[in-house]
Amino acid sequence: MLIPVHADLHDYDIVIEPGVLQDAGRYLPHDGKLLIVTDDGVPPAYAAALKSVSASTTLVTLPAGEATKSVASYAMLLETMLSAGFSRSDAVVAVGGGVVGDLAGFAASTYMRGIDFYNIPTTLLSQVDSSIGGKTAIDLAGAKNVVGSFYVPSRVLIDPTLLDTLPSRELRAGLAEVIKMAATSDAALFALLETTGDLRTALPTIIHRSLLIKKSVVENDLREKGLRRVLNFGHTVGHAIESAAQGALKHGECVAIGMLPMSGKEAGARISALLEKYGLPTAADVTAADILTNLTNDKKRSGTHIAAVWVDEIGSFTFRQLLPDEILACVERSSILTPAK
Ligand code: NAD
Ligand code: MG
Repeated sequence: MLIPVHADLHDYDIVIEPGVLQDAGRYLPHDGKLLIVTDDGVPPAYAAALKSVSASTTLVTLPAGEATKSVASYAMLLETMLSAGFSRSDAVVAVGGGVVGDLAGFAASTYMRGIDFYNIPTTLLSQVDSSIGGKTAIDLAGAKNVVGSFYVPSRVLIDPTLLDTLPSRELRAGLAEVIKMAATSDAALFALLETTGDLRTALPTIIHRSLLIKKSVVENDLREKGLRRVLNFGHTVGHAIESAAQGALKHGECVAIGMLPMSGKEAGARISALLEKYGLPTAADVTAADILTNLTNDKKRSGTHIAAVWVDEIGSFTFRQLLPDEILACVERSSILTPAK
């Protein structure tokens, strides 16, 4: 399956195919040098499968985890390329989750003012979310994604079978972003998630449909001026919970909980049932005061109001400008502050 993506720098395509990693030679450049970037949580066989693609490959394996999205790893990748004699016609390949993709993409976007970047995402989150949309980033002084660029890959290869080794908590965290996109934009995908009895088998379809949603959003709003904010459904309260939980909850888990206060009664009930079906939390052990403090730090704030995405009916959404107190009232109504059993 192929999804063409239109972007202002250049168009590219996403190949979704079970087993495509073993066939990557068909889709990656053979001439020139390749810097393959992965992390030590990704099964080493995935990056090793690319060894024979080009005569000159350099493999860098970084420690797994968000701390790797640092200035130090970024500099290390650039220095590795420089000392291996990389030129403008060489390329970077990311094999990993959003951490590896964001970092390697940023290095590719700035080395000699930009060299080709290929992304092979290996987590559900990166397959449906971070590998499409053209954002690359590293963290700085504890602030997430504050240094980065809009840069599009030359190609993205998605192999759903790579998710077989993904820990189930990581899979669920990615699924939260899928549920988020389905809830705002694809009632049929939402229904598929509700009815399927076999998630693994349904994954290629789920990934494909999620990518179509994100593609249509980012193609219409590459630089996050308007429509792209729909992707923030669940994120306004979600981010506040994420900060308040101080690392106890994963981003996707916070987004899962954060969708509930921003939904009408019926939609909220369906989302809640779906979260429970997939073992995602529907409540967080944080206080209303914590939420309020963190809401008022929200970067999506304009003036006194906060731009929030609201879902009344599954498959559609509206943008709402809400005051922190109004969001807090929604939070209290949705009883997401009850500690999970
Ligand atoms: P991650 O990259 O940290 O991967 C999660 C864990 O899974 C890591 O320990 C990794 O080693 C391991 N792993 C990866 N693939 C595996 C596999 N197939 N089998 C077994 N283990 C595997 O986390 P993530 O959730 O993929 O990405 C999170 C990052 O993505 C954050 O830094 C976030 O800021 C970024 N992000 C970027 C965008 C964007 O638009 N650029 C969007 C959303 C998130
Ligand atoms: Mg998110």
